[in-house]
Amino acid sequence: MTENLLNDVASRATRYLDGVARRRVFPSPEALRNLQGFSVELQDEPIEAAKVLAELDTLGSPATVASTGGRYFGFVTGSSLPAALAANMLAGAWDQNGGLELNSPLAAHLEKVCHGWLVSLLGLPAQMEVGFVTGATMANFTGLAAARHAVLRAHGWDVEAQGLFGAPPITVVVGNEVHVSLLKGLSMLGLGRERVVRVPVDDQGRMIAARLPAAEGPMIVCMQAGNVNTGAFDPIGEVAARLRGTGAWIHVDGAFGLWAAAAPAKHALASGIDLADSLATDAHKWLNVPYDSGLVFVRDKRALNSAMSASAAYLIEGQTRDPHLFVPEMSRRARAIEIWAALRSLGRRGLAELIERNCKHAARFASELRKAGHQVLNDVVLNQVLVSFGAPDVTRRVIAAIQQDGTCWCGGTSWQGNIAMRISVSSWATTDADVEQSIAAMLRCAREVRT
Ligand SMILES: *Cc1c(COP(=O)(O)O)cnc(C)c1O
Repeated sequence: MTENLLNDVASRATRYLDGVARRRVFPSPEALRNLQGFSVELQDEPIEAAKVLAELDTLGSPATVASTGGRYFGFVTGSSLPAALAANMLAGAWDQNGGLELNSPLAAHLEKVCHGWLVSLLGLPAQMEVGFVTGATMANFTGLAAARHAVLRAHGWDVEAQGLFGAPPITVVVGNEVHVSLLKGLSMLGLGRERVVRVPVDDQGRMIAARLPAAEGPMIVCMQAGNVNTGAFDPIGEVAARLRGTGAWIHVDGAFGLWAAAAPAKHALASGIDLADSLATDAHKWLNVPYDSGLVFVRDKRALNSAMSASAAYLIEGQTRDPHLFVPEMSRRARAIEIWAALRSLGRRGLAELIERNCKHAARFASELRKAGHQVLNDVVLNQVLVSFGAPDVTRRVIAAIQQDGTCWCGGTSWQGNIAMRISVSSWATTDADVEQSIAAMLRCAREVRT
């Protein structure tokens, strides 16, 4: 019974992935209309699992966005490496609770293994702790919670016990190109989206270090490794040098850009990340593991544990490394399983090649689009490309035509007053042929709109 079901799901999943390379990237209007098939009253009697699966596949598969294929370039979206997907399926069978070492010694152990590999790959200090969270939004939140603890503790305030009422005010500094998820993290922590000090940025969105406010009192400075539009990095080393000795906490949002540190050709972009107090990144973007998966690195283990613990009792728990002391959740998916599988299958060289290959693809998009007379708005230093097809309305219409065409998928964005199409190459599955086919579709759509 279970055996038949799991064999069935394996063959349906295989069929799906085989088809992804050929189908349109965004689902057809018909497939979307068919989602109405799900909208039924819940019946009284149970239905056999095999029938439930068949219904899910029949209605669901055609309505998926083929972001796991090689021609999805929207937002910053990875797909799933084969080893990570397979591990995810086995992990589903295991159904481990990743909260306590006692719930799953396996999950706790894989976290420790991944921890060692990750700090080494990214060139972070070995003592930096890591939490396995749902994505960069929660990684930012978690790193900032540790920051909030540490800068207030240094001023004699226990924020977990007393909250923020009556606490010394914290100066929170962000670059003017801060990602909204970081502001969301600040808002959830009672630090406020709007009371931040915004530092001006240059034409690539990089924080201008010389414009940093003077450091006094409790202070958290938030930087970016990888601007979501341009891929540019804030001058982390320079800012860290200016802040040395001030007690200011440096947090880095490196949702996708942090992985540049694992690629020799791009490593220099991330210089200074080892000076940060906390860093956030995604695993479901550039590491290409299934959702939902992100990582937070924090130098001060005690600050992280204090911010994430349900009580002060963790201090006497002793030798075990209970995963829940590093993240907001208690019971949760054992996310290290897929991260382990991704890293194990890639090795250091495979990961570096994945990052460098995607960056080369981005450079190719930029040069071909430029050659055809379109304007590339950013310095393509990483995997992000911003293209303008002319006036804002023309660019919007070309984006709509490309999405409609179905060969590939790119979204729109606004960049320093311009409307642009953003191409983000973040999938292991993207091949040279995918890039060529997508460029041809883009140029065809642009010609059609402009004539
Ligand atoms: C994607 C992204 C985030 C948010 O990550 P989620 O995985 O969606 O939570 C934060 N910062 C940057 C720079 C990003 O690109």
